[in-house]
Amino acid sequence: MSVLDIVLWPDARLTETCVQVEEITQEIRTLAQDMLDTMYAAKGRGLAASQVGSLRRLFVMDIGWNEGKSDPLVCINPMLQEIGEERTVLEEGCLSIPGVLAEVNRPAQVQMVWSSLEGGRYVQSFDGFGAACVQHEIDHLDGIVTFDHLEADTRAALIAQYEAAQ
Ligand code: ZN
Repeated sequence: MSVLDIVLWPDARLTETCVQVEEITQEIRTLAQDMLDTMYAAKGRGLAASQVGSLRRLFVMDIGWNEGKSDPLVCINPMLQEIGEERTVLEEGCLSIPGVLAEVNRPAQVQMVWSSLEGGRYVQSFDGFGAACVQHEIDHLDGIVTFDHLEADTRAALIAQYEAAQ
């Protein structure tokens, strides 16, 4: 078990577009396990590779582990499909922006396609918190954080709150 350092906003690595994982090597398997360990240690429910400084299209999530319903997912090269019309606003935290909750407006339902560590291709629909979580993590792979979804005034206020807490 290795708990990695989490990259904190405004580190430039959080603005980078991550690259596709071409091959699932032992290094990728170790990275994924370390990311799960890091996420649990930080009491988070999702963590993208760029948040531990590795600019590859890979994230981990486990949205129910705090409620005793652990279901860890390792999502490699994830893509969103068939995004519906309905939108919803949920409060989102981020392990790279500790102490700040941002209200982010997103599609309420999404379908995600991804590869597992074993190489299998998966398709699953998500709604509620799960939909927000997968979109939040894929945002990280495209160099986007919650602040980037906000109106200028709200963004400035939350950044001031974040900076005051550091
Ligand atoms: Zn985040």
